Amino acid sequence: MKPLQDLVRPNIWKLAPYSSARDEYSGHEAHVFLDANENPYGNQLNRYPDPLQRELKQRLSKLKGIPADHIFLGNGSDEAIDLLYRCFCQPQTDNVVAIEPTYGMYKVCADINDVEYRPVLLDEQFQVTAERLLAACDNHTKLIWICSPNNPTGNSIAREEIVKTVNTFEGLVVVDEAYSDFSRQQPLRQELQKHSNLVVLNTMSKAWASAAIRLGMAFASPAIIGIFNKVKYPYNVNLLTQQQAMKMLDDPFEIDRLTQLILQQRTQMMEAFRLLPICQQVYPTDANFFLARVTDAQAIYDYLVGRGIIVRNRTRVQLCHNCLRITIGTRSENDELLGALRSLNA
Ligand SMILES: *Cc1c(COP(=O)(O)O)cnc(C)c1O
Repeated sequence: MKPLQDLVRPNIWKLAPYSSARDEYSGHEAHVFLDANENPYGNQLNRYPDPLQRELKQRLSKLKGIPADHIFLGNGSDEAIDLLYRCFCQPQTDNVVAIEPTYGMYKVCADINDVEYRPVLLDEQFQVTAERLLAACDNHTKLIWICSPNNPTGNSIAREEIVKTVNTFEGLVVVDEAYSDFSRQQPLRQELQKHSNLVVLNTMSKAWASAAIRLGMAFASPAIIGIFNKVKYPYNVNLLTQQQAMKMLDDPFEIDRLTQLILQQRTQMMEAFRLLPICQQVYPTDANFFLARVTDAQAIYDYLVGRGIIVRNRTRVQLCHNCLRITIGTRSENDELLGALRSLNA
């Protein structure tokens, strides 16, 4: 890896961050807070929240097996994705490399930040090699994006190719593990201590059943986390979100139970889907959705919308012609989808 200073944008490296009232007193016990112009009349939410979400990070640290100083929390993973551009990529100069097809936000954030985006097409098995990713890089490549399990294809990217990429690339490799709770593959976040250029993304939006609270995580070296903390909004994760996240973390066994239920339903759904006359192929998945090639994705999508059932039409995505992406729902939702598709052919 290049020295961090060579990867960070010069203005960000030099940046003196905003220092909030709550940042400045820390280290002392206090009970009179006349420093932040808050309303003193309490309703539980009258005070600014902890800008570094220390209590929540302690809890996540235990759960994920990652030291708290290796954790950044944001307003969804989307905040971490955008921050990676804002901290590391000089607009109109730097570029990033990403697998294609993948999660759309990497490209949208590149466009917003005026950073060149270099897609590397997956092969027919939706895989990529380190060699092909590295061949797309040059001296101005700051980030490589790898989503695994990948959205919308569902499969995990070969672990040895990811590790080879991390070991060889001089910039940062971002591995988005939004769906790793649904996979039996060992998550890359456990390799964090070995790789100073690895950033792993997690979210509360999928297996943790909390998309509405907007809580995403980035795991990386304390030096990288320190740069994120300097650039983020001071109070980027509100107190209601922090409290609700801790409430969810109180019962990890319930999340395990729901995950197992979703995985059972996934197996049944995929088997039933394969038997549908409209189905041409169901692709293997490690996520809570699967990709299926059908006879006419647009027509089937429109038909389902007419019945009040929404799936994701991916037909215009590269390598996904005539493909629908189907999220695993409750048993009755899944049955309703299958019923609608069966009567399509009746
Ligand atoms: C759903 C998803 C996320 C989650 O984003 P949040 O902003 O945390 O809700 C992140 N990455 C991928 C690949 C996803 O599919």
